[in-house]
Amino acid sequence: MLQDGLSTLFDLLPIGAYRSTPDGTIVRLNAALLRINGYANEAECLADAKVIGAESYVQPGRRQQFITLLEANGQVTDFVSETYRLKTGEHIWVREHAHLVRDAGGKTLYIEGTIEDITQERKASLSLQHSESLLRNVLETIPDRVWLKDVQGIHMACNAAYASHLGTTAERVTGTNDVYWFGEKLAALFGQTDLITIQAGKTLRFEGPMHSPMHDDATIYEVIKTPMIDAANRTIGVLGMARDIHDRKQAETLLRDTTEQLELALMGADLGRWDHDLSIEKGYYLDERSCAMLGRPASDTNKGRAWGHLIHPQDLPGTLDAMRAHLSGAVPAYEAEYRARHSGGHWIWMSNRGKVVQLDQHGRPLRMVGTLMNISKRKEVESELLKTQADLKNSLNSVAHLAFHDALTDLPNRRLLNDRLETALSVSQRQKKHGAVLFLDLDKFKLLNDNFGHDVGDLLLREVAARLLQCVREVDTVARLGGDEFVVLLQNLSVSADNARQHTATVAGKILASLNEAFLLQGTHHNITTSIGATVFLGHSVSATDVLKHADTAMYDAKAKGRNTLRFHEKIELQPSQTLRQ
Ligand code: GH3
Ligand code: MG
Repeated sequence: MLQDGLSTLFDLLPIGAYRSTPDGTIVRLNAALLRINGYANEAECLADAKVIGAESYVQPGRRQQFITLLEANGQVTDFVSETYRLKTGEHIWVREHAHLVRDAGGKTLYIEGTIEDITQERKASLSLQHSESLLRNVLETIPDRVWLKDVQGIHMACNAAYASHLGTTAERVTGTNDVYWFGEKLAALFGQTDLITIQAGKTLRFEGPMHSPMHDDATIYEVIKTPMIDAANRTIGVLGMARDIHDRKQAETLLRDTTEQLELALMGADLGRWDHDLSIEKGYYLDERSCAMLGRPASDTNKGRAWGHLIHPQDLPGTLDAMRAHLSGAVPAYEAEYRARHSGGHWIWMSNRGKVVQLDQHGRPLRMVGTLMNISKRKEVESELLKTQADLKNSLNSVAHLAFHDALTDLPNRRLLNDRLETALSVSQRQKKHGAVLFLDLDKFKLLNDNFGHDVGDLLLREVAARLLQCVREVDTVARLGGDEFVVLLQNLSVSADNARQHTATVAGKILASLNEAFLLQGTHHNITTSIGATVFLGHSVSATDVLKHADTAMYDAKAKGRNTLRFHEKIELQPSQTLRQ
């Protein structure tokens, strides 16, 4: 039996205590052990059939381990096991100490021990372990180099990426300082940035090469340092992260170079740039050069105004069509040339080219960019060129006209007459219809010249030309061969030679009558007559030269016959009444 004082102490122990027989039968247990096992009092416990010890371990064989240890050493300390709370069967964790009580002969009388419920403690430690392994996992998952140093600069932890940069393992880094790995000089440098970070009380960024005892690496790293603060708001160290930004730096440099080159190209070509964010209402942007082209200040770059109102009304529909065609995807780029209103009030010609560069997830255009070029000078040169071309064409036309026409009367000259005569022969050949040539030579024209002067002679020649034209149809030709000689070519007359001759005579009669009318030249009336020689032709039976020769001969015949008359080359004379009938 325990003495009373001891018994009170036994009962008041905050941890469970017991005495049992070697077979595990509880002889005595204190209040704390009753509580651990879920009993209100000793009677309730002892009435329970379950035996503390033998049936309390979750792990099979655990009881035997306990006994073996006890028998071997006479005692067991810090024996931690998962057990059942006897009354409820719930799992709990306990820490046990026990020893054997032997008699003088060494025979085991009792087992005495303590049982401490460490379920909460264990939960906390498990959760700490969990947090730590979580943290470690996170650290290892980060591809960047990560390390934690306390305020004294001692590594508290790091990930494998950081450790391998030092040529070692994370375990070996923990507990060391920078001097150990980098030497005094670099360690001082790192310590300085750590200190700056702690003093700043916020995350700081540094850029530069990361020195390593392993190798000389010129790669640029971004080092991010963050002060670590505990729950009491005390700084407990610095968290460092280093990221290889070599590729990013290169991309940045490339982008900067490309942007600069683009800017140079735009500047060299004197191009303005525009940008249109289609997702917002006033997403228009014009760069400074575009503004300058339109005579606007640089401050207008972000005015956010559409420039439709600046476009000449005549050019606006075409410009909008071009824009719609591109936005709908029908054409690969937007291209338009239009007149735009300069702030000075005048119009300038612009060439605008652009492209959609961004689409939303539905494929709708989100953003367009493009260039503007002032093409006023080019347009000026173009219109000058067009004018020059037109002038040149006119000149060429008049040269051509001069080559084929008589300068005084503007009638076709001998050359053109020959062409037309050749054509007429071919047409006649094809159509089997006759044509005719009338050869005219004014009578005593020299006299008119001599008496009234060359100018009056010229006027008369012109008037004769006009009257001859009135006597023939559109299809016929009136030509001046030179001097006072004219030729009339009649085409498409008749299949019958007689009818053709009849028609020819009719026209000749008309001409004779017309020229017999007095000419009023410079206020004076003048009279002139003409002798006409005629010949009809059918196809190529006679050459063009001979046709003219025949007509010429007939004309001389007419002169010989007293002038102011018609003679045919073919010796079939018509009656004078027939000749002059019309
Ligand atoms: P004929 O009845 O025999 O034909 O007598 P003619 O006086 O008309 O003589 P001919 O036809 O041989 O002479 C034509 C004249 O026409 C010769 C020349 O003085 C004149 N002549 C030639 N070319 C021009 C011209 O361009 N202008 C003028 N005013 N006279 C011209
Ligand atoms: Mg004459």
